[in-house]
Amino acid sequence: EQQAKLLASLKKQWDEAIKKDPDILFDCPELHALQTYKAGDYVADLALIDKLSKLAPATVERLDKMGLKWNDFSSQYVGAIWPRCHDAANYTSGQGYIDTFRHTIEKEKLPVTILLQTKADELIKKDGRVVGVKATGPNGEKVTLNAKKGVIMTSGGFGANVEMRQKFDKLWGGKLGKNIGTTNSRAITGEGILMAEKAGAGLVDMGYIQLLPVTDPENGTVSGICQGTAIYVNTEGKRFVNEMGRRDELSKAALAQPGGVFYRMCTVKNARINKDGLTTLGIPVETFLKSGKVIRGENVEDLASKIKVDPKVLKATFDKFNDFCRSQGEDKEFGRPSCAPNIPMYEGPYYAELRTPSVHHTMGGVRINTNAQVLDTAGKPIPGLFAAGEVTGGIHGTNRVGGNAIADALTYGNVAGESAVK
Ligand SMILES: Cc1cc2nc3c(=O)[nH]c(=O)nc-3n(C[C@H](O)[C@H](O)[C@H](O)COP(=O)(O)OP(=O)(O)OC[C@H]3O[C@@H](n4cnc5c(N)ncnc54)[C@H](O)[C@@H]3O)c2cc1C
Repeated sequence: EQQAKLLASLKKQWDEAIKKDPDILFDCPELHALQTYKAGDYVADLALIDKLSKLAPATVERLDKMGLKWNDFSSQYVGAIWPRCHDAANYTSGQGYIDTFRHTIEKEKLPVTILLQTKADELIKKDGRVVGVKATGPNGEKVTLNAKKGVIMTSGGFGANVEMRQKFDKLWGGKLGKNIGTTNSRAITGEGILMAEKAGAGLVDMGYIQLLPVTDPENGTVSGICQGTAIYVNTEGKRFVNEMGRRDELSKAALAQPGGVFYRMCTVKNARINKDGLTTLGIPVETFLKSGKVIRGENVEDLASKIKVDPKVLKATFDKFNDFCRSQGEDKEFGRPSCAPNIPMYEGPYYAELRTPSVHHTMGGVRINTNAQVLDTAGKPIPGLFAAGEVTGGIHGTNRVGGNAIADALTYGNVAGESAVK
């Protein structure tokens, strides 16, 4: 019923929008919700998604008011499906969000105490209500935090916990052991999920673990120089997938290539390099070239010989892709919907970087309702316990849409805060 309502509202807005401007780059919260639901194979809780997509624009505005400067264009990350991602103009990483909150706390002299290097060990429960947290400080000292209004868990997923990955995985056939890397920090071990479970929380969608297809085979990091949805070419010099597709589809296709690896390729025009020769993470391109992580060729044939691919095959791959871009036609082989955001790759220098999928996001976690209250195994709210972000499950289904995680964490973080003070 909720899906039908969203569809009807989407149709109405779409009809009105294209009547006014047939070339409009259309978007609305309903489209965001329906795409998120579909991309997660309809297993997520649509009420949670609906709330996320309705409130996400307000999240962007709230951060803007706090001083985060957004780019005045949207982008489309790997697996984002639609150009809906917002990037900070004044930051190159997630540090921007933390700084923005920190500066707001300082500027407005908000009564917030931040305890760094302090590890939460256990939730304190009294008469069925969560009333605090037991923790360990930087020098091993025991810390007890008493919560009058509630505890909000935001401890992330379990992408770096090999044991949990192997225990819960339902998508990757037991292949998420030590041999596969992760983009996550080592701290992302799912402790919060287990702590909440111990306090009675129900868990949901724990088997759905996302691989990011475009990571460094040596260490699982996302650093590199080509745009996420640049052309992907296997070690035989051939494209093999619609680069703008879902992350699970991209990862499956990548793992099926020889050696489970592929090259992401781009030219200087569609690399993410600024005028100072730095990548979006502020790393000089030279660093990548020197380490051999990025290989540069003056033209396609030069690049092909450096990566030991038949130059004729690679040239044919580029020619075909460029024809598709030039004609704005159809990608008959793989169904890529458009050439954008790339520009055709006619001129060198060309770059290639070796990529493979690594564990990136865990879609499962503690079950919450639309007020970000943690639910017990019977679906009832646990008094005093709230959660937001990757520690929760139920929003992204089997496959998270690129760009939706930060939106989820920031939006439901706010919902949780509001619920806790009510
Ligand atoms: C490299 C990378 C790039 C990404 N890029 C994007 C992107 O561009 N867009 C997007 O939408 N998403 C992106 N994601 C996903 C997104 O960053 C995460 O899903 C999101 O940060 C989750 O936010 P969170 O606040 O729920 O948890 P986290 O950001 O993971 O934070 C959890 C925190 O809890 C701490 N913690 C864990 N256990 C304990 C404990 N017991 N005691 C105390 N502290 C604890 C951890 O140390 C960590 O600091 C990216 C992820 C990675 C790894």
